[in-house]
Amino acid sequence: MARVWINGERWVEVKDAEGINVVHLTVNDKEIAVSGGQTILEAVARMPGIGNIPTLCYHPAVTPNGACQLCTVEVSEDGGSKFRFVVACLYPVKEGLVVKTNTEMVRKLRRGIIKLLLARCPNVKKIQELAEEYGVQKPRVALLGEDCIHCGLCLRACQEIIGQAAISLNRVWEVAAPFYAYEVSEEDCIGCGDCAFVCPTGAIQMGPNDKPILPKVKILHSEIEAMSKITMEVI
Ligand code: SF4
Repeated sequence: MARVWINGERWVEVKDAEGINVVHLTVNDKEIAVSGGQTILEAVARMPGIGNIPTLCYHPAVTPNGACQLCTVEVSEDGGSKFRFVVACLYPVKEGLVVKTNTEMVRKLRRGIIKLLLARCPNVKKIQELAEEYGVQKPRVALLGEDCIHCGLCLRACQEIIGQAAISLNRVWEVAAPFYAYEVSEEDCIGCGDCAFVCPTGAIQMGPNDKPILPKVKILHSEIEAMSKITMEVI
């Protein structure tokens, strides 16, 4: 039996379903029972009212990669005496796990990530909204005004949903077609628009020829220096 929090409003006693791998865990002081084999993020997303975990690089249709780290939460595997940070989109639910999704430490860590993102992409609406929600001011160092956060969601969608590999992240972390080309090839790209659809920041737009216009992004040495300064501010 498990005492389960339902629809964000009431507890019910439920029997574990026979033959189903049920995992019991505590999220934000509420006991829940979920099927095993899923991540903390998936479990929490399926339990309305139990917690809100922000994400940018996650999409349920593709394999998570933990790139943005915004979904970081605190977990304890010893019943709640010792906690550590994990990335919720990658960490599997486990029997007895205690999860806290919105502690002051978690919020502090997310504020740091958002500050870095805001420095890089000050004009992206979703990042502005996150900054407002977490009370993050624009950092003193102004960066490039880019839109791409290198989350790789576009290329995961192209590979895993469409079965193409028309785009990838190259060695300098740009979204590009193979051989560093900024235009996708007619042969590889079917013009489905999935990459633009899943992009969390709007960095990829579809062009008039129904092919994506890829963001021209360079990580400059000056940007890395500025990022280090902001990281020091955050710490
Ligand atoms: S539009 Fe082209 S690059 Fe984008 S997901 Fe579809 S096939 Fe891949």
